[in-house]
Amino acid sequence: MSNTTDAHDLNRQALALAELVELAARDERLSAALATLDVTGLEGHMDPAGLRAALAEAVLDEQRESRTAEAERRAGAAGVTLAHRCRCGCSGINHDDRITDDGRIPCAAVGCACMDLEFAPA
Ligand SMILES: [Zn+2]
Ligand SMILES: [Zn+2]
Repeated sequence: MSNTTDAHDLNRQALALAELVELAARDERLSAALATLDVTGLEGHMDPAGLRAALAEAVLDEQRESRTAEAERRAGAAGVTLAHRCRCGCSGINHDDRITDDGRIPCAAVGCACMDLEFAPA
């Protein structure tokens, strides 16, 4: 990459940032959204496709964290570990690694119809 290109890219970045600053100053929701964003996890351009990919990633992270917290809560309530068997016969670990929108943790074992992790009595 030549210095000319670097300067040109920097100028475009500066222009885009200046535009964002101006838009954010006029739009409270945009300003709040930008303030919340941690861009260290974002790669490439923040175009619609890039933002959608980042959104999908963030939602997946949230579903995984919720799944872990909920599975640990259920295991704790049942007095067992996450590796204990669910009523479906599969280990708690064999259940999906993310929670559903309605708070369920279905079994991930092939052919198992279990819709929600429920630890069998210890
Ligand atoms: Zn199950
Ligand atoms: Zn199962």
